[in-house]
Formats: sequence, C-alpha cells, structure tokens
Amino acid sequence: MDSAIFLDNAATTRTDPDVLETMRPWLDENFGSPATLYTFGSQAKQAIEAARQHVADLIGADPKDIFFTSGATESNNWAIKGVAEALEERGRHIISNQAEHHSILMPLRHLEKKGWEVTYLPVDSDGFVDPDAVAAAVRDDTVLVTMVHANHEIGTIQPIAEIGRVTAEKGVAFHVNAAQTAGHIPISVQELGAGLMSLSAHKFYGPKGVGALYIRRGVRITPLLHGGSQEKKRRAGTHNVPGIVGMGKAAELARANLKAEVDRLSGLRDHIFDWVEKNIDDIRINGHRTRRLPNNVNFSIEGIEGESIMLSLSYPTADGARPVYISTGSACVSGSLEPSHILLALGMPAELAHGSVRISMAKGDNQEDIDYALSQIAAVAERLRSMSPVYKRGNKKCAAGSDPNGCECEAAG
Ligand SMILES: *Cc1c(COP(=O)(O)O)cnc(C)c1O
Repeated sequence: MDSAIFLDNAATTRTDPDVLETMRPWLDENFGSPATLYTFGSQAKQAIEAARQHVADLIGADPKDIFFTSGATESNNWAIKGVAEALEERGRHIISNQAEHHSILMPLRHLEKKGWEVTYLPVDSDGFVDPDAVAAAVRDDTVLVTMVHANHEIGTIQPIAEIGRVTAEKGVAFHVNAAQTAGHIPISVQELGAGLMSLSAHKFYGPKGVGALYIRRGVRITPLLHGGSQEKKRRAGTHNVPGIVGMGKAAELARANLKAEVDRLSGLRDHIFDWVEKNIDDIRINGHRTRRLPNNVNFSIEGIEGESIMLSLSYPTADGARPVYISTGSACVSGSLEPSHILLALGMPAELAHGSVRISMAKGDNQEDIDYALSQIAAVAERLRSMSPVYKRGNKKCAAGSDPNGCECEAAG
C-alpha cells in the first residue's frame, strides 16, 4: 500500500491511527466483558457508554436510542425484519427503491418470499427518488419506508427530509441507511425525520465489523439476535468492546473535522469532474453533479470495460508507476454478467454501465495524488480504447451485443 493510491473508500476506509490507539487497550489488558459485575468489566461498560454518546452526537440522537451491531448489513436486516415482524398484524407492505444496496434488497426479497409485498420505486436519471411517489405508494397496510441516504455507487443524496415529512404525515416507520453519509456529511435524525438509521464504522475510518442502529423511542421492532440481555435485551451477544470504542472515537473525530472535510473533498470532487470532462473524450457523469457525496465521483468511459481499467490501474506495468485502486459498477470477473443494478436503474444503456468508474476519496487525499491517479486513468483508457474494435472517438455508442475489451460479459444491448 505504500506507494499505492487508494480511491475505493466507499467500499472501506483505513482505520485512523488515533482510532487504532484508542482500541488497543481493549484488545489487550482491558479485556474484561462489560457484562460482568466486578470493576474490571465495568470499565468496559463505561467505555461503551462513552462511545454511544459520540455515535449519538454524530447524528443528533439521544444515546439511549443507539444500539451497537456488527455493521450496516446487520442494522439494515434488523430494521427491515424487526419492524416487519413487530407490525405484521397491522400490514405487510414496505416501500423502498430500485437502486438500493444489497443489504436492503436481500432482506426485502426474503420477506417477499414469506408473503410481504414490497414497492420498489423507480429513480430518475440522476438516481433520485421522488418524495411525491413515496406519498402515492403508501397504502393502509404500509408499515415501513426504507431509503438509502446516499447511494454507495453514484453518491446521489436522496431528499430524505422530504420523504421523512411524508412518512410522518402518513404515520409509517422510516428507516434510513446512512452507511455512506454518517461521518461524511452533517446528519440530524430529527431534521431527516428518521425513526431508524443504520451506521457502519469502517466507512468513516473506524474498524470493520461494528456499526449501530438508531431506533427512536416508540418505534416498534423485534430483536434480530436473541440471547443475553445486552443492549437492553434488544441485541444479544457479548459486546465488541474494541470495535465499539473504535467506532466512538471515529465518530468523535469525524464530527470535529466534518465541515472542513466536506469543503475540501467537494473541491477535489469538482476538480476531478472538470478534469475528466476536459481530458477524456466521450465520458458521461453518473449521478447528480453536486447533490452527491463530497468524496464520490462516478463516470462512464465509452468503449471500455470498467473492470479492465480497474485491473490495469491496480497492476501498473510501467516501471515505477504507482498502483491506483478504484471501483467499477461492472463486474464480470466476479461472475456476474449484469452491470450494476444501480446504473441500470438510472436508465443507462448496459454498454455505458459496463464502462463505469467510481473514485471515492478519503480524508488524507491530496490533489497531487488525485492528479497522478487521473493521468493514469486517462492513459489506461486511451490504451484500452486503441485496442478496441468498436470504439470510435465521437461515436456515441458501441455496437450492441459486442464487448470491446474481450471480457466475457454480454453487453445486453
Ligand atoms: C458499506 C455499506 C453497507 C454495508 O455495511 P457493512 O458495515 O460493511 O455491513 C450497507 N449499505 C451501504 C450503502 C454501504 O455503503
């Protein structure tokens, strides 16, 4: 990683050194369990409560409403299955959208198999859900609306406060998956009108395997994990003390640096968009240009395969070249022939979706590294295009059903 430039921070971030330092004693000499009554364990209990306060402060919540989990996947599963089960007598209808993360879509599919009905609202070409469409979709038997705060691929920030007003008016529980936004943009659960909110520590420089679910007092939900009486009997299992302490520290640091980081990263993001528009022909920006995460850039490069550029950048062949890690919404090596369901939900043709590139930045990133990465991206795109049998500069589409770069994917027309 020394010389590498890591621009895949929407997938995960490096644990902040201060966070790691704060966690260390809880893996070492302070290994006591917070469930024990002797004082050795009570220190862990205090540390957990301090972390709970920091996490609550990050989203403007009451610490009594914060419940620690193993990450946003668990929090999302808990919110969806827990509310569905608690309210199944009232109704079995849930509203979400087509561009959700798999940790939302899969629990919803699971419920559909068991008799629940789910309305997946469409998104527009920038990825936005229309709050009026949410209002129109609410029925007498609707028990939950679940919406991502910002999309992990294209960074689009949803009009959550407007949707929150709709759910409040209709008396429907509202869950917001804030895995991409917590620690990255200011959040207030009150202003957003969220009754439930999922967080993940490793998305904001905390450790992996720890997260939280905010559950506003009065929201009805059954536990996902049954067992011991941890977390007020709502989430059983010995606390992940080092992870929770680390998440608390990460939340504290994120809140202290929030405004400065939003400004700095938005500036870098806009610089990247300007640069690629100027220096790479035939690209298309995915998602809204400004109503998006400060650290998220996503664009499609016509005539190339996102996966080819991703792999070429990570294994540079030139002497002394630095590896650059980015992501793509196209994944044929990993066995899926379909491009990302999120890019398709925007109405994007499959061949353009295959050429998508996501750059997601972190707090340490400077313009010099970003400019280096951009020049590498442009050079690799140029090389891949020169080998492409179908790409012609200025030609707005490559031939349907053909794949320009020898990947086994079928461009589905
Ligand atoms: C990362 C992510 C998740 C999953 O979080 P984990 O803590 O890794 O389980 C869920 N939703 C979104 C939008 C994410 O970005």
